[in-house]
Amino acid sequence: MVQDFIDGKWMNSLGNTFVPVFNPANGQELAVCPLGTTADVDRAVQAASRAFVSWRQVPSVERIQYLFHLKTLLDAHLEEVAARITQEHGKTLSESRASVRRGIQMVEAATGMPTFQLGEYAEDIARGIDSYSVRKPLGVFAGIAPFNFPAMVPFWFWPFAIASGNTFVLKPSERVPLTHQLIFELIEKIQLPKGVFNLVHGGKDVVDRLCAHPDVKGICFVGSTPVARHVYTTATAQGKRVQALGGAKNFMVMLPDAVMDKAVPTALESIIGCAGERCLAGSVVVCVGDEAYRQVSERMVALASDVSVGDGMDPHVQMGPMISRESKSRVVSLIENALKDGGKLLVDGRKNVDHLPGYFLRPTVIGNVVESMEIAKEEVFGPVVLLAQVKTLDDAIQWLNRSNYANTTTLFTSSGAAARKFSVEVDPSMIGINIGVPAPMSFFSFGGTKDSFFGDIKVHGAEAVQFFTDKRTITQRWMADSNIW
Ligand code: NAD
Repeated sequence: MVQDFIDGKWMNSLGNTFVPVFNPANGQELAVCPLGTTADVDRAVQAASRAFVSWRQVPSVERIQYLFHLKTLLDAHLEEVAARITQEHGKTLSESRASVRRGIQMVEAATGMPTFQLGEYAEDIARGIDSYSVRKPLGVFAGIAPFNFPAMVPFWFWPFAIASGNTFVLKPSERVPLTHQLIFELIEKIQLPKGVFNLVHGGKDVVDRLCAHPDVKGICFVGSTPVARHVYTTATAQGKRVQALGGAKNFMVMLPDAVMDKAVPTALESIIGCAGERCLAGSVVVCVGDEAYRQVSERMVALASDVSVGDGMDPHVQMGPMISRESKSRVVSLIENALKDGGKLLVDGRKNVDHLPGYFLRPTVIGNVVESMEIAKEEVFGPVVLLAQVKTLDDAIQWLNRSNYANTTTLFTSSGAAARKFSVEVDPSMIGINIGVPAPMSFFSFGGTKDSFFGDIKVHGAEAVQFFTDKRTITQRWMADSNIW
């Protein structure tokens, strides 16, 4: 039974509509997820508001002790959490493990809060007057997560939020609610004061109420661009702080001087890892010049044809299924349109999957991709390699900068000068040089720009402290009475 966790207790959702949760590797129904209501949100926000009154007064060195405890529990239960992710999301066990480790790193980084939250002090800003600033928590924050990283994405927010003295309400994706059932069983064990961290399941109704609720001070959102834009506009109109991370279209540029034997497998892994369902997944491989295109396509075709696809629980499997039948159909229709638009089918991942019980698509490689094609513009979110050719590095940079999205991009090269030019001139905020998935670590900040990010302050790292706190500056003068001394 998928339940909410509110005010330190497990409780049934007040909603009476449910959506099925499937194991995408075999199509079997694992559970049903309740679609929560406005009333579910209200009771969670009430609990979080009550908890804030005393939680904000707990010294940060005490607050982080809960996170140290949670870290040890997450380490001990890593395999169990990873298996749960693979079961409901489909990614391979090793991908699931890596994502849980990333989540644990967020908890580790948030334990640095007593240092992050330090203020500033200036003596004698005027004669006999001093000024100091401190970072104060704001109240209740809410997190809304996508399906593609059931464990990791929520950790981008809440450890930093609660370590800095706020309270939190989390809404996971209704497509993968089971991972957080397990994580909240661990959270229950660390015995946070009741109401500090709450879980509410649901879909649009829960999101919309969180964005409108007068006692929610800020929203952390990760998901597709249309919903990110909706969340940003509705919640900021209510005066809330918002960080809304949206979709992506990530370009990988191959210069002829790239170390092809390493660059091509790295690019392929970026594109097909987690079945392409990553916001940092590469999509279009833009080769500079004929020779680079020839070398990349030859290697890509050989490697992509050799990927073992199946149930992610099998350790020999390199790529799991897509999340749902609908997602698979969407990607198949993008492939079909690309072929109608003049794309050349080099590896057909639609073949040899019908005997598999789940929502499988093998790696697909399409050549002769040009900028005007739908597939070259839209986020694919599936295991499709798009090969394109341009004449110069400038052409590649101009193409990727014309995209509405700007999450990440990578250059493969041996030239420091080319790498420098690229990192200075491209729009995306997360840039890789010979790195397939340049995901910033927990102590750096994460987020793109343009239609990939709505807001001002990005997630985790030092920026998390800015997002979750208000900087107050106190200016003081002590009027000395020399007769007393
Ligand atoms: P989604 O936008 O469908 O759902 C995200 C969340 O929004 C879910 O919790 C869902 O319940 C809720 N939601 C869905 N439709 C809604 C609506 N109409 N109104 C209000 N709330 C709604 O996204 P998804 O399919 O779960 O996730 C995949 C997307 O997330 C991709 O576009 C991917 O690029 C993006 N993503 C981005 C990042 C990043 O860092 N930029 C990271 C992970 C995923």
